[in-house]
Amino acid sequence: RPTPVFAGVPVANLTLDETLAQVATWLQEPDFRRMAVVNAAILLDVERDAGFQTALATADLVTADGMSVVWATWWLPFLGGRLVARVAAPEVMEGVLAWCAHHGQRIYLLGATGEVVTAVCERLQQRFPTLSIAGAQDGYFPEAASSAVAAAIRSARADVLFVAMGSPKQELWLARYGPQTGVRFALGVGGYFDILAG
Ligand code: UDP
Repeated sequence: RPTPVFAGVPVANLTLDETLAQVATWLQEPDFRRMAVVNAAILLDVERDAGFQTALATADLVTADGMSVVWATWWLPFLGGRLVARVAAPEVMEGVLAWCAHHGQRIYLLGATGEVVTAVCERLQQRFPTLSIAGAQDGYFPEAASSAVAAAIRSARADVLFVAMGSPKQELWLARYGPQTGVRFALGVGGYFDILAG
């Protein structure tokens, strides 16, 4: 299946199940990998923001969060491939959470307000009793604290990091500080912590 490329950003031509299988494989390897999802609005920002473009172009996996991106690949042959599916961040997070709960992988939550991220921890622990939550941190720390935040994630011995700080902040943060966190998989999930906090 050919991979379409938007403004230098290849968007993976995978189904949700194939995406989750890829993440499960990565979680059995030592390297740091990061994933982002893109919608039409993000792809317009990428055209104007070189830093964001680089953060997405160097991500290990980028999927289409919205049907408009999928449809664009059906109608615009110059993009280079027709996407078979939309693979949104909440679905990937849910699948990875279930996998982690079954395989003893430790998760860390970074983003949203302190109140929201604390509520998300409680809700996830109820929904996935066997899930190990290594720690959580709100997304309103100063830029200068980023290395300390990454070090805290490393000390917590987290395997998987979910970041909900909105785009492009979460993608830029992961590109720069993700490798210092010691996790093997990181995913930007936008506003999903606010929904999970219910
Ligand atoms: N957020 C954060 N730190 C910031 C800005 C935003 O943690 O400096 C959080 C915010 O609380 C929300 C999430 O990022 O939970 C997503 O924000 P928004 O809806 O603005 O981003 P989008 O989903 O549109 O990318």
